[in-house]
Amino acid sequence: MLGAMQDFDLRVTHLIDHAAREHGSREIVTRWADGSETRTNWAGIRHDALRMTQALRKLGVQPGDRIATLAMNHSRHLVSWYGAVGVGGILHTINPRLFDDQLEYIANHAEDLVLLYDKAFTPIIERMKPKWTTIKHFICYDNGEFEDWIGQEDGKTTWATGDERDPCMLCYTSGTTGNPKGVLYEHRSTMLHAITGLQPAIFDFDTRSVMLPVVPMFHAASWGLPWAGAAAGIKFVFSAVNDAAVLCELMNREKVTHSAGVPTVWLATFQHMDATGTTLPTLRQAIIGGSAAPRFMIERLMKAGVNVAHAWGMTETSPIGTTGAQTWDWDERSFDEQVTIKQMQGRVPFGVELRTVDLGDPTKVLPRDGQTSGALQVRGPWIIKRYFKAEADATDAEQWFDTGDVAILHPDGTLQLTDRTKDVIKSGGEWISSVELENAAVGVPGVAEAAAIGIYHPKWDERPILVVVKKAGMDVTKEAIMAHLAERVAKWWLPDAIEFVDAIPHGATGKISKKDLRDQFREYKLADA
Ligand code: ADP
Repeated sequence: MLGAMQDFDLRVTHLIDHAAREHGSREIVTRWADGSETRTNWAGIRHDALRMTQALRKLGVQPGDRIATLAMNHSRHLVSWYGAVGVGGILHTINPRLFDDQLEYIANHAEDLVLLYDKAFTPIIERMKPKWTTIKHFICYDNGEFEDWIGQEDGKTTWATGDERDPCMLCYTSGTTGNPKGVLYEHRSTMLHAITGLQPAIFDFDTRSVMLPVVPMFHAASWGLPWAGAAAGIKFVFSAVNDAAVLCELMNREKVTHSAGVPTVWLATFQHMDATGTTLPTLRQAIIGGSAAPRFMIERLMKAGVNVAHAWGMTETSPIGTTGAQTWDWDERSFDEQVTIKQMQGRVPFGVELRTVDLGDPTKVLPRDGQTSGALQVRGPWIIKRYFKAEADATDAEQWFDTGDVAILHPDGTLQLTDRTKDVIKSGGEWISSVELENAAVGVPGVAEAAAIGIYHPKWDERPILVVVKKAGMDVTKEAIMAHLAERVAKWWLPDAIEFVDAIPHGATGKISKKDLRDQFREYKLADA
């Protein structure tokens, strides 16, 4: 027997219909790469997306075809998200910072048919065109081409219909080992994820919210903001350039209340604020994720009256896994305790389940005791089952995705990430968290960036060393860093050496590449080894 409620497939085109109908005049502002600015609204985005759907049909695009983008954050990119899914296609957002062989691999693996791109990425297009075997149509966003292309259409059409389990979006993880892997989101998973984003503990949106997402639309679905933002009918302010001066100016002029980005984005913002005396008086919600938010960052934002939602997730989790919200006894906590709580990665929303298993024996589920660390696994309706084009196998039935993260779960469900499985440092049979060492180190004035890696040691197996980049124009000594660490981590965790470098290698998503760093220090010898 079926229930007797109306049919309403959870397809993401409902989101843009809702935004245009209920919040049609809410503005979408774009600051383009050339410094110009345009303004549209949710009704305009829907109209353009419908026109794009018509234009794609004329190109012969069929439901299930892949429509790729190579673009920064702007309103035409947003139009394309809805235009691509509107024709029943699969939106494939490509990260322009990937290396050429990765760019070649993913576009061919995805079998992209159409590619929409920013003028700034023309050199990539020119370079890659001969290597991309499936892309038939290239359309540039900001040289008049995109506007002309959709300008020939009238928008009088309807969205493709279909099953809510149809795929709608494809994102590749940068893959620190081997080829990148595709994560194929479906309409239903994306819709449930978008609705989850409306919970106060996640983005804390209401109709007055003005969001400037710094997290790119090409990385981890911009944390789902283009979908959740439509459901909430918020105002978006996009910047096609990631420059702290531009971002701060926009935030103040457009009275931005919400922003989202990885820790390095906030670091650059702070540096600009310190250099110029700029403040961000309208900001009240900062979503930080992608890598661990350091303590001083959380402290600084909280002192400025900004709520910090420290979030954990990954491309494979759509990406919302957890966010750090206030605990029920928040008001009884001291400021220091509050910061300590925010420094952890928070708790799951309804729909996500977490567990940790023994690093050596994955059949052993570990207790949520706030002490034992293990391999983090996750499940839920917006968590990956298997990678794009991967064969179904026995592990599908288990429905627990292995995140590659190492974590402690607390009795109240709070997640505390301690490392990535491949980055943990094993010393004398015990684990040392590289993340905790790094977090402590970046709290030292004069330290711009720090990374801890394990170096071979004949007695202890591995011992940590800390690689540090100094802030420009500031001096800091190894002794000062060591003294700071000694107050914050166990004695046997203290690095055997500190090495200053000019730069630490980063991957395509802006995160430290431990693999490259370990390669650089492959020949390194510890003093007592
Ligand atoms: P990539 O592997 O390309 O970096 P993701 O952006 O999907 O892909 O990265 C997900 C990973 O980023 C997580 O598995 C975790 O290791 C790390 N991460 C995400 N959020 C946090 C956080 N708040 N604190 C610490 N690490 C995080």
